[in-house]
Amino acid sequence: MVLETGTTHIRDWRGYKGRPFLISGPCSAETEEQVMATAKELAQLKEVNLFRAGIWKPRTRPNSFEGIGIEGLKWLRNVKQETGLMVGTEVANEKHVYEALKYGVDMLWIGARTSVNPFTVQEISNALNGVDVMVLVKNPINPDLDLWIGAIERIARAGISRLGAIHRGFSTYEKTVYRNQPNWQLPIELRRRMPDLPILCDPSHIAGARRYLYEIAQKALDLNFDGLMIESHIDPDKALSDSAQQVTPNDLRELLSRLILRSPVPSDPKLLDILGELRQQIDIFDDYLLDILEKRMKVAETIGQYKKENNITILQSTRWDEIISKVMINGESKGLSRELIDTVFKAIHQESINHQMRVMNNGVMNLAVDKH
Ligand code: PEP
Ligand code: MN
Repeated sequence: MVLETGTTHIRDWRGYKGRPFLISGPCSAETEEQVMATAKELAQLKEVNLFRAGIWKPRTRPNSFEGIGIEGLKWLRNVKQETGLMVGTEVANEKHVYEALKYGVDMLWIGARTSVNPFTVQEISNALNGVDVMVLVKNPINPDLDLWIGAIERIARAGISRLGAIHRGFSTYEKTVYRNQPNWQLPIELRRRMPDLPILCDPSHIAGARRYLYEIAQKALDLNFDGLMIESHIDPDKALSDSAQQVTPNDLRELLSRLILRSPVPSDPKLLDILGELRQQIDIFDDYLLDILEKRMKVAETIGQYKKENNITILQSTRWDEIISKVMINGESKGLSRELIDTVFKAIHQESINHQMRVMNNGVMNLAVDKH
């Protein structure tokens, strides 16, 4: 998948000096003093490239603080004048785009609750047509990669060349440690589908709590993300939105000093040799895995034939319970996580059912079976 318009890499964007592109600032602009005080401290950190602040806040429930509105755009303009930092805010409709552009905002981001809606994204794209501004598209709240890509494509069609994505995690019904599930495989797959697109990570909205910011930010850097967006506030405990996940500019400085920037390719040729050998071993094991899976499916097909001849149903849940508890014990004793065993064996089991189904239906797949 290649973007229809030419994109420039974030490394070519102003302010990037071989380090991750760093965006920081409060979740919401609340008062002029809060915005200026936060921005002035952030401007002291050489790593910060762009100051963020939400002006219009999409809140889950009404009666929460819904943003200061246009007034805050003047404060952003002052931040730009006084600190020299680029500034950015969230836009959720075409009016937001026009207002933000009027005040010289350098970067517009599309929030997770907006990128789910193709009508709204299209409306924003129309408002952006022919404008030269940086636009970052957050992932939709649900883990749907095509929806995310669709939103990015719509914005690209407006001729936006400084275009990027922000990974901010995905909502789940279950309570989890993090506020939003990272589902790292989605941004990784996005990178594969759109290799030239800069991808930033927003550890703040994934974490939901400041103590997890560091581990998420480090993971994003280790996965070669192009930048980070981390919320900061001059007095986080008094923040009107997302208080628990914001850090002071000073805490941000400390966090950044602990982050390790690893290189995607080793500079030492000897290390490259060692890695090459290990990768060959991995390739061999992957071939084994495929061979074994093929053999397992052949057995499943034979079972399918037998069940067909004897009029037996495919699914026997006691047998499946037996398999999963046995492989859990065996797998854990080999140092494999329960999560891996569960995911892999569920997928293998489903594939076996599909193979049996094919045999029983003489080559016709039965779509009634749930794909889980
Ligand atoms: C935000 O960045 O403050 C925000 C509302 O983010 P998201 O759209 O990721 O929830
Ligand atoms: Mn926020």
